[in-house]
Amino acid sequence: MNDRRTDMIALKASLLVEGVRATGEALSGVGTDFKEQNHGLFGWDLEDHPGMVLPDDFVLPGGTVVQFRMSSSSPYLVRSGEEGLFLERDSRPICEVAWIERPRFYDRELEAGKKMVQVGQIGGEDCLFFCYQNYCSHFARGKQCRFCNLVTTSQTYDSVLRKKEAEAIGKVAAAAWAEGMVNHVLLTGGCFSHEREIGVVEDILAAIRRRRGVDRVPGVVLPSPARGDDIKRYHDTGIQAIGYSLEIWDEPLYRAICPGKSEKTSHSEFLRAIEKAVELFGAGNVYGVLVMGLEPKATFLEGVRALTGMGANVVPFVWSPNPGSDLAGHRAPSGEWFAETVREAAEITLEGSLPPGTENHCYRCDGNNLLHDALREQGVV
Ligand code: SF4
Repeated sequence: MNDRRTDMIALKASLLVEGVRATGEALSGVGTDFKEQNHGLFGWDLEDHPGMVLPDDFVLPGGTVVQFRMSSSSPYLVRSGEEGLFLERDSRPICEVAWIERPRFYDRELEAGKKMVQVGQIGGEDCLFFCYQNYCSHFARGKQCRFCNLVTTSQTYDSVLRKKEAEAIGKVAAAAWAEGMVNHVLLTGGCFSHEREIGVVEDILAAIRRRRGVDRVPGVVLPSPARGDDIKRYHDTGIQAIGYSLEIWDEPLYRAICPGKSEKTSHSEFLRAIEKAVELFGAGNVYGVLVMGLEPKATFLEGVRALTGMGANVVPFVWSPNPGSDLAGHRAPSGEWFAETVREAAEITLEGSLPPGTENHCYRCDGNNLLHDALREQGVV
């Protein structure tokens, strides 16, 4: 196998947009020894697979983490060989791969009939993810973001609790950290009134801090855009970083792809929130979240440049058409396009000389984002 000559960023990008399959033998141990998908928020596969246990993500040589996006027609296949798992494309071997160990806390009971995995899940190798409420009001009016499948994912898998209590989140965080796997948290909720949301996040962070015995929690909260003094209240919860999901940089395209969200929050409101958040959290501890692959390279890179210039790091999730979203059946750009574009984004980020913020979010957290990998290629870890 030619590990050394493989461009891992291009390979990861292709796996994310073309999907992947695995043989039954390769899947042995997924859900018991290895971490399985639990659909805590969106369904990222290229097709639904209720009743089938699949890996959440896997690791390429050199430590690159890739989300497992199932596609039964993908040219990529994970097989089991004498020396472990390996990945092939069109029957030609590419490299060895490894599933990720399953956290022990997943099976612990919170109370009768409720397991910890229904509250929090590990993203990648070290990020403890909580969606504090799987709900978004834009769906009821048909104004959901065109790439989003939050509601159908919840209906198809019904695998997590839709609403999680702060104390349950605190208990799961304490158990997960005690296992030694977690380095940071990622918290988000679907769509809230901002007054209610800040109260929910305050209670959650208080529970995590109390149960862990710490003052500050490494990680990121991704709330709806805060107004007035809310950003200070988020900072005072003890979370170390905050992010805002602008989704699409080009504003007319943002309005077309995110009709409900853009009615509630304009780009200029997002940018005001980011500016204020940088003042309070510090440069590098604020994130602008973009969906990569739905807008031209030029406007995407313009967004990376503008956000970096404001002191915010960028998390660009790799878009592929998810089942249940309005864009199901469409095609994402090629893996090569993603690899080339994200390397240019990394150069822009490096020119900005921001603190990388890796104590709050790192390349091991994200199987669905390539920017950390492109920065790691340039020595930023
Ligand atoms: S705001 Fe958009 S991306 Fe977020 S949950 Fe609602 S529809 Fe989905």
